[in-house]
Amino acid sequence: MVKEIFRRRPRFIPQRKEEPLGERVVPQDMWISCRKCHELLYTKEYEDNLKVCPKCGNHDRLNAPERIATLLDAGSFEELDAGLQSRDPLQFRAGDRVYTEKLAADRRKTGLAEALIYGRGLLEGVPVVVAVHNFPFRAGTLGVVVGEKLTRAIELAAREATPLIVVSASGGARMEEGVFSLMQMAKTTAALARLAESMTPYISLLTDPTIGGVPASYAMLGDVNIAEPGAHIHFAGGRVVEETTRQKSETLPNAEFMLQHGMIDMIVTRAELRPTIARLLRIYGTRCYRHSPGVAAQDMAAPHKLPAPPSNGDLAKGAALSEVLVSLAGEE
Ligand SMILES: [Zn+2]
Repeated sequence: MVKEIFRRRPRFIPQRKEEPLGERVVPQDMWISCRKCHELLYTKEYEDNLKVCPKCGNHDRLNAPERIATLLDAGSFEELDAGLQSRDPLQFRAGDRVYTEKLAADRRKTGLAEALIYGRGLLEGVPVVVAVHNFPFRAGTLGVVVGEKLTRAIELAAREATPLIVVSASGGARMEEGVFSLMQMAKTTAALARLAESMTPYISLLTDPTIGGVPASYAMLGDVNIAEPGAHIHFAGGRVVEETTRQKSETLPNAEFMLQHGMIDMIVTRAELRPTIARLLRIYGTRCYRHSPGVAAQDMAAPHKLPAPPSNGDLAKGAALSEVLVSLAGEE
């Protein structure tokens, strides 16, 4: 009886009109192609693997929120100065394109106000200050606001004696902000010198790509410099190297090259980053952590003090100028 009912019912196969007979509909985002080996990967499996290709080990780029989700304890991140936005100090134009329009388009695309986010969080229970470049926004480039937010992160880490983690993914200085962009290299480097004086650990994580003014300043100044496998890390692009040295370069320097030449301390796979950084922070010791268990009460009551700021010379002039830029960036 049952068999008869099934026999009588016509077979129903859902199909779209434009598709040829026999072809099955597959959701567009169900499969993804690896950028390196071009193997077809099941998206869910790929994302569960933190966007690392299980076939060739390629570490795909993460945006800032994804990076924070892979590094910090769930729900522990508290963002600071989220609304700080770039102005257009040079009234920059490139052909028909206006810089402010590019910024607005990237804000819509990424949902973030700028190319870097920073704040407090916990990493395996250890309090940290973390700053992360967001590559999809203007290629994570170092502009006035990125430099200012980084400096605020560094100063916060020094003030609270909390370890600092900076995750770089950047195309270098932001050409639309010209010399103001280049000044951020000196500004962040000076702030890091004062962080070092406060004996607070700084861990720099270099991800693909970290190029131009970023590895030429803060990204290479970590107490420990860590890179992800295969990440492109260099100062000048291939064309510039070829024009300058008049030699054809087959490949651009990457994390492995940098490790071989002593420029970074270790290469760590994405899955191992969180436990590795947590282990490093524990090795650096309880002295730096105001909130860690086991810190003597008097240490918690007396955090490390920063040295007095310079009162004369070029540094003082630089500080005054940076205040002007801060107000440029912050007023809205
Ligand atoms: Zn692959």
